[in-house]
Amino acid sequence: MSDATSSPPGREPIVGIDLGTTHSLVAVCDEAGPRVLEDDAGRGLLPSVVRLGVEGDPVLGHDARETAGDHPDRTVFSVKRLMGRNASEFEAEAFGGVEIAAGPRGLACVRDGEALRTPQEISALYLRRLREIAEARLGTPVGRAVVTVPAYFDDAQRQATRDAGRLAGLEVVRIVNEPTAAALAYGLGRGGGAETVAVYDFGGGTFDVSVLRLAGGEHEGVFEVVATAGDTRLGGDDVDRALAATLVADVEASLGPGSGSGAASAQAMRLAAERAKIALGENEEVELVAELPAGTFRRRVGRAEVEAAAAPLVARTLQACARCLRDAEMSAEAVDAVILVGGSTRMPIVRREVERFFGRAPYTALDPDRVVALGAAVQAAIVAGDRRDLLLLDVIPLSLGVETVGGGVAKLLVRNSSIPARAVERFSTSVDGQRHVSIHVLQGEREMVEDCRSLARFELRDLPPMPAGIPKIEVEFLVDANGVLGVTAIEARSGIRARVQVVPSHGLTAEEVEAIERESFVHAKEDMRRHRLADLRVNASLDAKWTTDALERTRRELDDAYIRELEAAIERVRSLVAESGRDTSVDPEPLAAARDRLDRLSTRLHEVAIAASLRDGGA
Ligand code: ADP
Ligand code: MG
Repeated sequence: MSDATSSPPGREPIVGIDLGTTHSLVAVCDEAGPRVLEDDAGRGLLPSVVRLGVEGDPVLGHDARETAGDHPDRTVFSVKRLMGRNASEFEAEAFGGVEIAAGPRGLACVRDGEALRTPQEISALYLRRLREIAEARLGTPVGRAVVTVPAYFDDAQRQATRDAGRLAGLEVVRIVNEPTAAALAYGLGRGGGAETVAVYDFGGGTFDVSVLRLAGGEHEGVFEVVATAGDTRLGGDDVDRALAATLVADVEASLGPGSGSGAASAQAMRLAAERAKIALGENEEVELVAELPAGTFRRRVGRAEVEAAAAPLVARTLQACARCLRDAEMSAEAVDAVILVGGSTRMPIVRREVERFFGRAPYTALDPDRVVALGAAVQAAIVAGDRRDLLLLDVIPLSLGVETVGGGVAKLLVRNSSIPARAVERFSTSVDGQRHVSIHVLQGEREMVEDCRSLARFELRDLPPMPAGIPKIEVEFLVDANGVLGVTAIEARSGIRARVQVVPSHGLTAEEVEAIERESFVHAKEDMRRHRLADLRVNASLDAKWTTDALERTRRELDDAYIRELEAAIERVRSLVAESGRDTSVDPEPLAAARDRLDRLSTRLHEVAIAASLRDGGA
């Protein structure tokens, strides 16, 4: 039970749930900060997919999605689109292979053989599964949740979401807007930070953008949605379809006329295009492989091709952003922070274009698939009254730095610097012709990498080959007013740059920061002790050697009792030196005392030895 919460027994945690069109997730926020709860297979994302007409336990999530091709007319996708809406609104809309029918009061339902299933019932299946995952991970019953909905959901849609919760045995204690949850996940709205936030959410089938403003007065700490815009028919799926469409001619050239058309071929090409799209986020070129009815289609696809297919769709998202700002009566410069949400925002073209539109780098530190669920969990903890202690980020609670050669940490920003804060440091390479430089970002007060907390690693790649020490690598740390750390590395001669963002103190409570400080203090004493022991051993060994040498030279002139006393003192020093060599954790004080005693005792010896050497030298 390593991941059980430390909530007192008998107190149920309130979980946060992102009930998404494509995926749903459950998260919890405790002393360690917010985290997504994973199923037994270690998966955090539950596909919002279910197969109808199944006796007994429902087939849903990954199982339903993977077998969807075998049951096209019984597999329900995107039921969130139906929540709280009338069947008449869907007459013109295809809804996968399943049939939409009018239920009570004309509400949109899904036909399941003879029966009609309400979208609430189907959503309740996902919510119940998420509840089970949470109960398994937390080892306690879970009866209450904060659930997120799109900002544009009306009262009927919000009420439908509450009802779905009730059907799943969950009391929905709060309905939170998805963009608000995203802002909370970043720790915005805790005072002193950004006032105006834009949330750009590009998912699988929908796009929406919202402008939020932190309310003052009695609503202090609450985000109000100033404006929202979007397109409920624009998502990552459209990028997949657009890329697949550009390949139809190649498919037919390779597999014969007609091989690129038909529902089965289109579906397989769309899935292959999605895999290629995802892989092209990390690679410049990948091989697209599609198993089509007419045979296997293979083709190398470059990033430029997927970007060309995505460009008109990304342009439509920016048009919606412009509409949203216009409705909010605001210019892009007035926005203090831009947050990216949804799997499609992992595409490099999206990040670039959003940055260009808003004139500032968007926040990308948190996983865009998880940020809404994490924020729902933060809201849940606030509702439960568990997290009044969340750290306010008016200062940097722990030092921030980068790894240097040899495993040390160069601190760029020290603890307690007030934010915003900026620091730049120059580095170079240590090997001739080094093409890649790895930047390791660390947090903590200790001197060595293994004693600090690793926040991020990224690479400056494809540098032109240069002799060691010639590249000029500038690393900039910038902590903005919200405590989000951006690290940029630039090689000044070639202009090559790379960047990463992190939320450095995410989920650290004041107590945790104190514990880390205390530890570094304890270790500072420990480091001093080791240092003192090492020095003592060197000096005490030399003392023992000199004393032995002097004793050999002057033994004839000394009395037996004094010789025995000296020899015992030398032996004591030697044995303590040997002992401390085997075990470096020993207390240095006995050795220090033995050395002092030898020192005092040998005063007479040294006098005799000096007199002897003067006599011999003079002879
Ligand atoms: P929703 O909020 O609608 O449930 P998600 O946020 O789960 O949607 O986004 C799903 C979409 O994200 C899909 O279209 C998927 O192809 C896309 N996606 C996921 N990962 C990546 C990636 N690494 N690069 C590009 N697109 C991605
Ligand atoms: Mg979403």
